[in-house]
Amino acid sequence: MIIVLVEANADGLTLFSREALTFARALGDRAGHAVQAVVFDEPTDAIRQQLGEQGVALAHHPDDPRLSDYAGASWAAAAVDVVRSSAAEIVLASGTPRGNEILAHIAARLDVRMAANVVQVESTDPLVVTRQVVGGAALEDMRLDDPIAVLSVAGHACDPQAASVAMTTEVATVSPTLDERDLVTRVMQVEQTQAEDTSALTGARVVVGAGRGAGGAEGFTDLLELTELLGGALGVSRVVTSLGWRPHSEQVGQTGSRIAPDLYIPCGISGAIQHWAGCQSAKTILAINTDPEAPMVTRAHYAVIGDLHEVVPAINKELRSRRTG
Ligand SMILES: Cc1cc2nc3c(=O)[nH]c(=O)nc-3n(C[C@H](O)[C@H](O)[C@H](O)COP(=O)(O)OP(=O)(O)OC[C@H]3O[C@@H](n4cnc5c(N)ncnc54)[C@H](O)[C@@H]3O)c2cc1C
Repeated sequence: MIIVLVEANADGLTLFSREALTFARALGDRAGHAVQAVVFDEPTDAIRQQLGEQGVALAHHPDDPRLSDYAGASWAAAAVDVVRSSAAEIVLASGTPRGNEILAHIAARLDVRMAANVVQVESTDPLVVTRQVVGGAALEDMRLDDPIAVLSVAGHACDPQAASVAMTTEVATVSPTLDERDLVTRVMQVEQTQAEDTSALTGARVVVGAGRGAGGAEGFTDLLELTELLGGALGVSRVVTSLGWRPHSEQVGQTGSRIAPDLYIPCGISGAIQHWAGCQSAKTILAINTDPEAPMVTRAHYAVIGDLHEVVPAINKELRSRRTG
Protein backbone atom coordinates (compact mmCIF):
# COMPACT_ATOMS: atom_id res chain seq x y z
CA MET A 1 0.00 0.00 0.00
CA ILE A 2 1.19 3.53 -0.83
CA ILE A 3 -0.22 6.38 1.23
CA VAL A 4 -0.07 9.82 -0.40
CA LEU A 5 -0.55 12.93 1.75
CA VAL A 6 -2.29 15.51 -0.42
CA GLU A 7 -2.68 19.26 -0.14
CA ALA A 8 -5.62 21.28 -1.46
CA ASN A 9 -6.63 24.86 -2.12
CA ALA A 10 -9.94 26.50 -3.02
CA ASP A 11 -9.92 24.80 -6.46
CA GLY A 12 -9.26 21.30 -5.16
CA LEU A 13 -5.99 19.36 -5.10
CA THR A 14 -2.86 21.39 -5.76
CA LEU A 15 -0.88 20.75 -8.94
CA PHE A 16 2.00 19.36 -6.86
CA SER A 17 -0.31 16.90 -5.10
CA ARG A 18 -1.71 15.70 -8.44
CA GLU A 19 1.88 15.20 -9.60
CA ALA A 20 2.64 13.22 -6.43
CA LEU A 21 -0.44 11.04 -6.99
CA THR A 22 0.61 10.34 -10.59
CA PHE A 23 4.13 9.52 -9.42
CA ALA A 24 2.73 7.22 -6.70
CA ARG A 25 0.47 5.43 -9.17
CA ALA A 26 3.40 4.73 -11.51
CA LEU A 27 5.44 3.45 -8.55
CA GLY A 28 2.47 1.39 -7.36
CA ASP A 29 2.04 -0.16 -10.80
CA ARG A 30 5.70 -1.22 -10.80
CA ALA A 31 5.79 -2.44 -7.19
CA GLY A 32 2.30 -3.96 -7.07
CA HIS A 33 0.85 -1.50 -4.52
CA ALA A 34 -2.54 0.24 -4.49
CA VAL A 35 -2.58 3.98 -3.74
CA GLN A 36 -4.64 5.58 -0.97
CA ALA A 37 -4.65 9.22 0.14
CA VAL A 38 -4.70 11.20 3.36
CA VAL A 39 -6.65 14.46 3.07
CA PHE A 40 -6.40 16.94 5.93
CA ASP A 41 -8.59 19.53 4.20
CA GLU A 42 -12.34 19.08 4.11
CA PRO A 43 -12.79 16.42 1.38
CA THR A 44 -15.01 18.43 -0.95
CA ASP A 45 -16.68 17.00 -4.06
CA ALA A 46 -13.92 18.57 -6.20
CA ILE A 47 -11.21 16.87 -4.13
CA ARG A 48 -13.00 13.52 -4.24
CA GLN A 49 -13.48 13.78 -7.97
CA GLN A 50 -9.79 14.61 -8.56
CA LEU A 51 -8.73 11.74 -6.30
CA GLY A 52 -11.02 9.45 -8.28
CA GLU A 53 -9.49 10.65 -11.54
CA GLN A 54 -6.09 9.74 -10.11
CA GLY A 55 -7.32 6.20 -9.43
CA VAL A 56 -7.61 6.58 -5.64
CA ALA A 57 -10.40 4.38 -4.26
CA LEU A 58 -9.98 5.29 -0.58
CA ALA A 59 -9.06 8.56 1.13
CA HIS A 60 -8.51 8.89 4.88
CA HIS A 61 -9.65 12.14 6.47
CA PRO A 62 -8.30 12.79 9.99
CA ASP A 63 -11.17 14.61 11.66
CA ASP A 64 -10.30 16.69 14.72
CA PRO A 65 -10.89 20.44 15.16
CA ARG A 66 -7.34 20.74 16.52
CA LEU A 67 -6.03 19.78 13.06
CA SER A 68 -7.76 22.65 11.26
CA ASP A 69 -4.67 24.87 11.74
CA TYR A 70 -1.55 23.39 10.20
CA ALA A 71 0.81 21.90 12.78
CA GLY A 72 3.50 19.66 11.29
CA ALA A 73 3.89 17.38 14.31
CA SER A 74 0.16 16.76 14.89
CA TRP A 75 -0.60 16.27 11.18
CA ALA A 76 2.27 13.77 11.11
CA ALA A 77 0.86 11.99 14.19
CA ALA A 78 -2.50 11.65 12.43
CA ALA A 79 -0.82 10.36 9.27
CA VAL A 80 1.22 7.81 11.23
CA ASP A 81 -2.05 6.43 12.66
CA VAL A 82 -3.28 5.87 9.08
CA VAL A 83 0.06 4.41 7.94
CA ARG A 84 0.04 1.90 10.80
CA SER A 85 -3.64 0.93 10.50
CA SER A 86 -3.39 0.41 6.74
CA ALA A 87 -0.03 -1.43 6.96
CA ALA A 88 1.41 0.93 4.32
CA GLU A 89 4.82 0.15 2.85
CA ILE A 90 5.40 3.57 1.28
CA VAL A 91 4.42 7.07 2.45
CA LEU A 92 4.71 9.85 -0.07
CA ALA A 93 3.88 13.55 -0.48
CA SER A 94 4.87 16.36 -2.81
CA GLY A 95 8.16 18.07 -1.98
CA THR A 96 6.56 21.32 -0.86
CA PRO A 97 7.78 22.91 2.38
CA ARG A 98 4.70 21.46 4.10
CA GLY A 99 5.03 18.03 2.47
CA ASN A 100 8.70 17.74 3.40
CA GLU A 101 8.05 18.91 6.95
CA ILE A 102 5.28 16.40 7.64
CA LEU A 103 7.27 13.56 6.07
CA ALA A 104 10.32 14.44 8.18
CA HIS A 105 8.14 14.17 11.32
CA ILE A 106 6.68 10.88 10.06
CA ALA A 107 10.11 9.41 9.29
CA ALA A 108 11.35 10.39 12.76
CA ARG A 109 8.31 8.81 14.43
CA LEU A 110 8.68 5.61 12.40
CA ASP A 111 12.47 5.68 12.91
CA VAL A 112 13.15 5.29 9.18
CA ARG A 113 15.06 7.27 6.56
CA MET A 114 13.39 9.83 4.32
CA ALA A 115 14.30 10.73 0.74
CA ALA A 116 13.33 14.31 -0.09
CA ASN A 117 12.74 15.66 -3.61
CA VAL A 118 12.72 12.38 -5.53
CA VAL A 119 12.59 12.69 -9.32
CA GLN A 120 12.71 9.06 -10.40
CA VAL A 121 12.44 5.47 -9.20
CA GLU A 122 15.48 3.42 -10.22
CA SER A 123 14.27 0.06 -8.91
CA THR A 124 11.46 -1.21 -6.71
CA ASP A 125 13.11 -4.27 -5.14
CA PRO A 126 15.06 -2.94 -3.38
CA LEU A 127 13.50 0.50 -3.62
CA VAL A 128 16.17 2.84 -5.01
CA VAL A 129 15.21 6.40 -5.88
CA THR A 130 17.01 9.32 -7.54
CA ARG A 131 16.62 12.61 -5.76
CA GLN A 132 17.67 16.21 -6.20
CA VAL A 133 20.28 17.52 -3.78
CA VAL A 134 22.09 20.86 -3.40
CA GLY A 135 18.98 22.71 -4.53
CA GLY A 136 18.66 20.63 -7.69
CA ALA A 137 22.28 21.16 -8.80
CA ALA A 138 23.09 17.45 -8.36
CA LEU A 139 21.30 14.11 -8.25
CA GLU A 140 21.94 11.20 -5.92
CA ASP A 141 20.60 7.66 -5.71
CA MET A 142 19.24 6.58 -2.33
CA ARG A 143 18.26 3.09 -1.23
CA LEU A 144 15.14 2.94 0.92
CA ASP A 145 15.08 -0.52 2.48
CA ASP A 146 13.41 0.27 5.80
CA PRO A 147 10.10 -1.54 6.42
CA ILE A 148 8.33 1.70 5.47
CA ALA A 149 9.78 3.97 2.78
CA VAL A 150 9.17 7.71 3.22
CA LEU A 151 9.75 10.02 0.25
CA SER A 152 8.70 13.34 -1.20
CA VAL A 153 8.35 13.97 -4.92
CA ALA A 154 10.17 16.99 -6.38
CA GLY A 155 7.94 19.57 -8.05
CA HIS A 156 7.42 18.84 -11.76
CA ALA A 157 9.15 15.44 -11.53
CA CYS A 158 6.22 14.27 -13.68
CA ASP A 159 3.11 15.71 -15.30
CA PRO A 160 -0.18 15.01 -13.53
CA GLN A 161 -2.07 12.43 -15.55
CA ALA A 162 -5.45 10.85 -14.94
CA ALA A 163 -5.52 7.10 -14.33
CA SER A 164 -6.72 4.91 -17.19
CA VAL A 165 -9.58 3.80 -14.92
CA ALA A 166 -11.23 6.46 -12.76
CA MET A 167 -12.49 5.46 -9.29
CA THR A 168 -15.28 6.65 -7.05
CA THR A 169 -13.32 7.75 -4.00
CA GLU A 170 -14.68 6.66 -0.66
CA VAL A 171 -13.72 8.88 2.30
CA ALA A 172 -13.00 7.18 5.62
CA THR A 173 -13.06 9.58 8.56
CA VAL A 174 -10.47 8.73 11.19
CA SER A 175 -10.08 10.03 14.74
CA PRO A 176 -6.37 10.55 15.35
CA THR A 177 -4.62 10.22 18.70
CA LEU A 178 -3.22 13.69 19.36
CA ASP A 179 -0.83 14.88 22.01
CA GLU A 180 -1.10 18.52 23.12
CA ARG A 181 2.70 18.81 22.80
CA ASP A 182 2.34 18.24 19.05
CA LEU A 183 0.10 21.30 18.79
CA VAL A 184 2.52 23.80 20.28
CA THR A 185 4.00 24.81 16.89
CA ARG A 186 1.14 25.58 14.58
CA VAL A 187 -0.12 28.15 12.09
CA MET A 188 -1.85 30.99 13.95
CA GLN A 189 -2.62 33.36 11.10
CA VAL A 190 -2.49 33.34 7.30
CA GLU A 191 -1.90 36.52 5.28
CA GLN A 192 -2.56 36.49 1.55
CA THR A 193 0.12 38.04 -0.63
CA GLN A 194 -0.78 39.53 -3.97
CA ALA A 195 -0.79 36.83 -6.63
CA GLU A 196 1.85 37.32 -9.33
CA ASP A 197 0.62 37.25 -12.90
CA THR A 198 3.04 35.11 -14.91
CA SER A 199 0.61 34.22 -17.69
CA ALA A 200 2.23 36.60 -20.24
CA LEU A 201 5.57 34.88 -19.72
CA THR A 202 4.39 31.27 -19.66
CA GLY A 203 2.16 31.76 -22.72
CA ALA A 204 4.59 33.82 -24.84
CA ARG A 205 5.70 32.50 -28.25
CA VAL A 206 8.97 34.45 -27.94
CA VAL A 207 10.85 35.05 -24.68
CA VAL A 208 13.88 37.31 -24.36
CA GLY A 209 15.93 36.17 -21.37
CA ALA A 210 18.24 38.34 -19.30
CA GLY A 211 20.79 37.34 -16.69
CA ARG A 212 23.63 38.83 -14.69
CA GLY A 213 25.20 39.87 -18.00
CA ALA A 214 22.61 42.68 -18.17
CA GLY A 215 24.87 44.38 -15.64
CA GLY A 216 22.25 46.13 -13.51
CA ALA A 217 18.66 47.36 -13.33
CA GLU A 218 19.53 50.06 -15.85
CA GLY A 219 20.87 47.50 -18.34
CA PHE A 220 17.46 46.35 -19.58
CA THR A 221 16.51 49.13 -22.01
CA ASP A 222 17.74 47.34 -25.14
CA LEU A 223 16.49 43.96 -23.89
CA LEU A 224 13.00 45.39 -23.31
CA GLU A 225 13.06 46.99 -26.75
CA LEU A 226 13.98 43.63 -28.32
CA THR A 227 11.13 42.01 -26.38
CA GLU A 228 8.73 44.62 -27.69
CA LEU A 229 9.97 44.38 -31.28
CA LEU A 230 9.45 40.60 -31.23
CA GLY A 231 6.07 40.87 -29.50
CA GLY A 232 7.35 38.60 -26.73
CA ALA A 233 7.84 38.58 -22.97
CA LEU A 234 10.90 39.18 -20.79
CA GLY A 235 12.16 36.28 -18.67
CA VAL A 236 15.09 36.58 -16.27
CA SER A 237 17.45 34.47 -14.17
CA ARG A 238 17.28 34.25 -10.40
CA VAL A 239 20.36 36.43 -10.01
CA VAL A 240 18.37 39.23 -11.65
CA THR A 241 15.42 38.89 -9.28
CA SER A 242 17.60 38.32 -6.21
CA LEU A 243 19.49 41.54 -6.95
CA GLY A 244 16.15 43.33 -7.32
CA TRP A 245 16.78 44.32 -10.95
CA ARG A 246 13.45 42.81 -12.08
CA PRO A 247 10.37 41.34 -10.30
CA HIS A 248 10.16 37.65 -9.36
CA SER A 249 7.15 37.21 -11.67
CA GLU A 250 9.64 37.37 -14.57
CA GLN A 251 11.92 34.61 -13.24
CA VAL A 252 12.37 31.50 -15.34
CA GLY A 253 13.51 28.24 -13.78
CA GLN A 254 13.06 25.74 -11.04
CA THR A 255 11.82 28.39 -8.61
CA GLY A 256 10.25 30.55 -11.30
CA SER A 257 8.09 29.96 -14.37
CA ARG A 258 8.49 27.12 -16.83
CA ILE A 259 8.34 28.38 -20.38
CA ALA A 260 7.93 26.60 -23.72
CA PRO A 261 8.10 29.34 -26.39
CA ASP A 262 8.90 28.82 -30.06
CA LEU A 263 11.99 30.99 -29.55
CA TYR A 264 13.99 31.70 -26.38
CA ILE A 265 16.83 34.26 -26.52
CA PRO A 266 18.80 34.04 -23.24
CA CYS A 267 21.16 37.02 -23.06
CA GLY A 268 23.95 36.97 -20.45
CA ILE A 269 22.54 33.83 -18.78
CA SER A 270 25.02 31.06 -17.96
CA GLY A 271 22.44 28.25 -18.10
CA ALA A 272 22.66 26.85 -14.56
CA ILE A 273 20.67 23.63 -14.11
CA GLN A 274 17.96 25.45 -12.15
CA HIS A 275 17.46 27.92 -15.00
CA TRP A 276 17.62 25.19 -17.63
CA ALA A 277 14.83 23.36 -15.77
CA GLY A 278 12.51 26.21 -16.71
CA CYS A 279 13.50 26.79 -20.33
CA GLN A 280 14.49 23.40 -21.73
CA SER A 281 11.11 23.01 -23.45
CA ALA A 282 11.76 26.01 -25.74
CA LYS A 283 11.62 24.82 -29.34
CA THR A 284 14.58 26.97 -30.46
CA ILE A 285 17.19 28.61 -28.24
CA LEU A 286 19.43 31.44 -29.46
CA ALA A 287 21.98 32.28 -26.76
CA ILE A 288 23.83 35.58 -26.59
CA ASN A 289 26.84 35.33 -24.31
CA THR A 290 30.48 36.42 -24.08
CA ASP A 291 31.52 32.92 -22.97
CA PRO A 292 31.51 30.24 -25.70
CA GLU A 293 31.79 27.56 -22.97
CA ALA A 294 28.73 28.70 -20.97
CA PRO A 295 26.28 25.75 -20.57
CA MET A 296 23.53 27.81 -22.17
CA VAL A 297 25.71 28.34 -25.26
CA THR A 298 26.71 24.69 -25.57
CA ARG A 299 23.09 23.56 -25.24
CA ALA A 300 21.54 26.24 -27.48
CA HIS A 301 20.56 25.59 -31.09
CA TYR A 302 22.26 28.86 -32.12
CA ALA A 303 24.58 31.24 -30.31
CA VAL A 304 26.07 34.67 -30.81
CA ILE A 305 29.33 35.05 -28.89
CA GLY A 306 29.59 38.67 -27.87
CA ASP A 307 28.65 41.43 -25.46
CA LEU A 308 24.86 41.64 -25.23
CA HIS A 309 25.12 45.41 -24.94
CA GLU A 310 26.52 45.43 -28.48
CA VAL A 311 24.63 42.48 -29.99
CA VAL A 312 21.12 43.34 -28.77
CA PRO A 313 21.15 47.00 -29.99
CA ALA A 314 22.42 45.73 -33.37
CA ILE A 315 19.50 43.26 -33.61
CA ASN A 316 17.06 45.99 -32.56
CA LYS A 317 18.43 48.33 -35.21
CA GLU A 318 17.99 45.66 -37.89
CA LEU A 319 14.45 44.82 -36.72
CA ARG A 320 13.49 48.52 -36.67
CA SER A 321 14.84 49.08 -40.16
CA ARG A 322 12.91 46.05 -41.45
CA ARG A 323 9.73 47.43 -39.88
CA THR A 324 10.09 50.83 -41.47
CA GLY A 325 11.67 49.61 -44.68
C1 LIG B 1 17.47 26.04 -4.92
C2 LIG B 1 17.87 26.90 -6.09
C3 LIG B 1 16.90 27.30 -6.97
C4 LIG B 1 17.25 28.12 -8.06
N1 LIG B 1 16.27 28.49 -8.94
C5 LIG B 1 16.63 29.22 -10.01
C6 LIG B 1 15.65 29.59 -10.99
O1 LIG B 1 14.46 29.29 -10.88
N2 LIG B 1 16.06 30.32 -12.05
C7 LIG B 1 17.37 30.70 -12.25
O2 LIG B 1 17.68 31.36 -13.23
N3 LIG B 1 18.30 30.36 -11.33
C8 LIG B 1 17.96 29.65 -10.22
N4 LIG B 1 18.92 29.37 -9.30
C9 LIG B 1 20.23 30.02 -9.42
C10 LIG B 1 21.16 29.35 -10.41
O3 LIG B 1 21.88 28.31 -9.78
C11 LIG B 1 22.18 30.36 -10.96
O4 LIG B 1 22.87 30.95 -9.90
C12 LIG B 1 21.54 31.47 -11.82
O5 LIG B 1 20.66 30.93 -12.78
C13 LIG B 1 22.65 32.22 -12.52
O6 LIG B 1 22.11 33.36 -13.15
P1 LIG B 1 22.83 34.02 -14.38
O7 LIG B 1 22.99 33.01 -15.46
O8 LIG B 1 22.09 35.28 -14.68
O9 LIG B 1 24.23 34.46 -13.76
P2 LIG B 1 25.67 33.85 -13.95
O10 LIG B 1 25.71 32.40 -13.66
O11 LIG B 1 26.60 34.73 -13.18
O12 LIG B 1 25.98 33.97 -15.50
C14 LIG B 1 26.11 35.20 -16.15
C15 LIG B 1 26.38 34.89 -17.62
O13 LIG B 1 26.41 36.10 -18.33
C16 LIG B 1 27.50 36.09 -19.24
N5 LIG B 1 27.84 37.49 -19.46
C17 LIG B 1 28.39 38.36 -18.58
N6 LIG B 1 28.45 39.58 -19.11
C18 LIG B 1 27.93 39.49 -20.36
C19 LIG B 1 27.70 40.41 -21.41
N7 LIG B 1 28.01 41.73 -21.26
N8 LIG B 1 27.14 39.98 -22.55
C20 LIG B 1 26.80 38.67 -22.71
N9 LIG B 1 27.01 37.75 -21.75
C21 LIG B 1 27.54 38.15 -20.59
C22 LIG B 1 28.57 35.26 -18.55
O14 LIG B 1 29.46 34.70 -19.51
C23 LIG B 1 27.72 34.20 -17.87
O15 LIG B 1 27.53 33.08 -18.72
C24 LIG B 1 18.60 28.54 -8.22
C25 LIG B 1 19.56 28.11 -7.33
C26 LIG B 1 19.22 27.31 -6.27
C27 LIG B 1 20.30 26.86 -5.33
